[in-house]
Amino acid sequence: MKIIMLGAPGAGKGTQAEMISEKYNLPHISTGDIFRANIKNGTELGKEAKQYMDKGLLVPDELTVKILLDRVSKDDCKNGYVLDGFPRTIPQAEVLDKELEKLGESIDFAIDVDVPDENIVRRMGGRRACVTCGATYHVEHVPPKKEGICDVCGGELILRDDDKPETVQNRLNVYHTQTQPLIDFYTAKGVLKEVDGTVDMKEVFESIVSILG
Ligand code: ADP
Ligand code: ADP
Ligand code: ZN
Repeated sequence: MKIIMLGAPGAGKGTQAEMISEKYNLPHISTGDIFRANIKNGTELGKEAKQYMDKGLLVPDELTVKILLDRVSKDDCKNGYVLDGFPRTIPQAEVLDKELEKLGESIDFAIDVDVPDENIVRRMGGRRACVTCGATYHVEHVPPKKEGICDVCGGELILRDDDKPETVQNRLNVYHTQTQPLIDFYTAKGVLKEVDGTVDMKEVFESIVSILG
């Protein structure tokens, strides 16, 4: 099963992708997480990506596509995967499609997690991320057991640089102009499913499970 998570920054793609990954035993692949791991490790890729991420802009397609295709060619992706944050542009979606076509495969579900912009801005200020393992929390909705400390690995929880309000607005603009067109793209392919992302995360997951079966 190959699944794509669509939705604005902060809509809950990562949260839902993690739950799907556990229930259906599929790797959760987040291009954002891959970039952040590279930034943390000081790689060339990380340096390049950071320039865009800090401004709320997309990392160029060429670079992003290379990383993603590399990742999905790994052994653990044989039975499928959940993509979280990829594709984010029509050219990215087209490259993925072409690559899958070569293998006689295609995307099974593109799940759009729908949340209005007003809710997003409020949500992002409360998001906290683990610098060590990438686990995500929310100060109100998903607090860690101990403030500022990751439940999973004991790492430090931070407010991401790109979750500051000014940058969130840029990311929303980028989302509407560059990423939202993917909704029509996957509708035309007959694989788009929409879920209401404003409700409790367990309810969002129930809607997703009823789609995936
Ligand atoms: P995305 O991957 O789409 O950017 P995340 O999964 O990181 O979104 O979620 C953004 C923030 O909102 C996180 O702090 C997360 O804990 C919180 N969150 C996720 N889903 C919900 C929900 N249904 N209701 C309230 N808060 C949520
Ligand atoms: P969010 O969970 O809030 O949607 P991500 O962690 O997915 O954010 O992405 C963080 C940043 O990483 C993006 O704002 C962008 O700069 C970069 N990025 C992640 N995925 C992609 C992609 N597919 N194409 C281009 N840039 C990307
Ligand atoms: Zn952690």
